[in-house]
Amino acid sequence: MKKICIIGGGIMGMTTALKLSLNKDVKVTLIEKENELGGMARSFRLKNGQTADCFYHYFCQSDKRLYKLIDELGLRGDLSFTKLKTGLLSQREGNLEIQPMDSCINLLTLKHIPLIDRLRFMLHVFYISRLSSDHVDDLVTAESHYLKWEGERAYKFFWKYLLDKKFHKYAAEISYAWLNNRIMRALTNKTFMGNTYYGRLNGGIHTLISKLEKRLIDHGVEIIKGNPVSVISFLEKSFTVTVNNFSATFDKVVTTIPLPYLRNIIPDIRVQSAEQYRINNIGCVCLCFVLNKPLTEYFWLNTDVNAWAIPGIVDFSNFKNTDSNLIYMPLYLPHDHGLWQKPDSELIAMGREYIAKISDCVITESYAHRYEYAQPIFTTKTFSKIKSVRSPVPGLYCADTTFSYPNDRCLDESIKIAERILRELEGEI
Ligand SMILES: Cc1cc2nc3c(=O)[nH]c(=O)nc-3n(C[C@H](O)[C@H](O)[C@H](O)COP(=O)(O)OP(=O)(O)OC[C@H]3O[C@@H](n4cnc5c(N)ncnc54)[C@H](O)[C@@H]3O)c2cc1C
Repeated sequence: MKKICIIGGGIMGMTTALKLSLNKDVKVTLIEKENELGGMARSFRLKNGQTADCFYHYFCQSDKRLYKLIDELGLRGDLSFTKLKTGLLSQREGNLEIQPMDSCINLLTLKHIPLIDRLRFMLHVFYISRLSSDHVDDLVTAESHYLKWEGERAYKFFWKYLLDKKFHKYAAEISYAWLNNRIMRALTNKTFMGNTYYGRLNGGIHTLISKLEKRLIDHGVEIIKGNPVSVISFLEKSFTVTVNNFSATFDKVVTTIPLPYLRNIIPDIRVQSAEQYRINNIGCVCLCFVLNKPLTEYFWLNTDVNAWAIPGIVDFSNFKNTDSNLIYMPLYLPHDHGLWQKPDSELIAMGREYIAKISDCVITESYAHRYEYAQPIFTTKTFSKIKSVRSPVPGLYCADTTFSYPNDRCLDESIKIAERILRELEGEI
């Protein structure tokens, strides 16, 4: 029997383990550093005992692999779609105002940007929606291409703020291919009339992760939680994986942990020097607040307030299958950014100030969750860097969310990457 170790208990590691566990000739061990499985899809408990996503999760119509997994786990009855609204919160002469941004009519009547720029923006987005998914231009930046097609005013109004708040010092380097694919994914949720539907499971992402964990246990997968792998070493044809003071030997190892961690745990020069493991990745502090009422009528509220640190506010109270008025504010931050260094309490205080400027609602609970490597930086020429899920060391497979490029990382993409790992492993077990 072959012994395979999967490191990282996020959705990629869990789905790889699930499929491998169907092979009777394989013994699967899954090692996760946190006490809970899920990675970016992990949950926490609110004061009323309900679970909530640490990092908000909604599903898009294009998430086909995710829906297949939901079916396999018997969770289709827990899935529902809600028609939700998008708005833009902007500041003009000191006053905050919110405008709807869902339909073409909303866009045509949008204030503070000339009609010609609104039209250029709409035509460009329409053009992007017609592009085939094979169309990938990885050599130009989003900034240069969007400036050319939409002009400076429209680029600044619709895109620059979002890119700056998400990628900071990397904003001007982000590839055109990534931004296009990100828009295409969002557009799959829209109907012809401009209505937008988002999916969510009853009980949030916890419903998926807990069922997946139970299925892994039923399939005989050994799950080790609360223990970071500190070293992976190899001798001849076997690997030794060290967790705290304990080591075990395996025939193959699959790591699904963020690639920047590899340089700390794999001392081999072939891994240390491989370009595909050196792609930048930034952190996220996701603020979460429980309110006594929905913040606004909008699920997705893009912000355009220069003094604020957030690209937007996501209001889960607007989903039909939720009982709490839960809002999230993602702060994507490079590790050398001043806000990343600040304690959670200061960031929560900042988020509370933003809320007070929008609504008179009462905040009943506040949380901050951190993820050190939450968003790969997809610059131009990323394609030429990402080679294969096979590492330069035979028998060792390494992938993380970077491998979703040119698509953005999401649950569906991590399941797709797991399928890629399994295809590569198939011939060897
Ligand atoms: C704010 C935010 C909002 C998001 N919203 C959505 C959304 O709405 N829809 C969507 O589809 N996706 C969303 N995502 C993205 C989605 O959560 C991720 O793409 C997906 O969960 C990645 O899963 P993964 O298993 O590939 O990686 P990860 O979740 O990063 O899993 C890696 C695992 O490895 C573990 N690990 C790390 N080091 C070690 C070690 N040394 N030893 C053992 N284990 C280790 C980690 O603890 C983690 O559990 C969001 C992400 C964020 C941050």
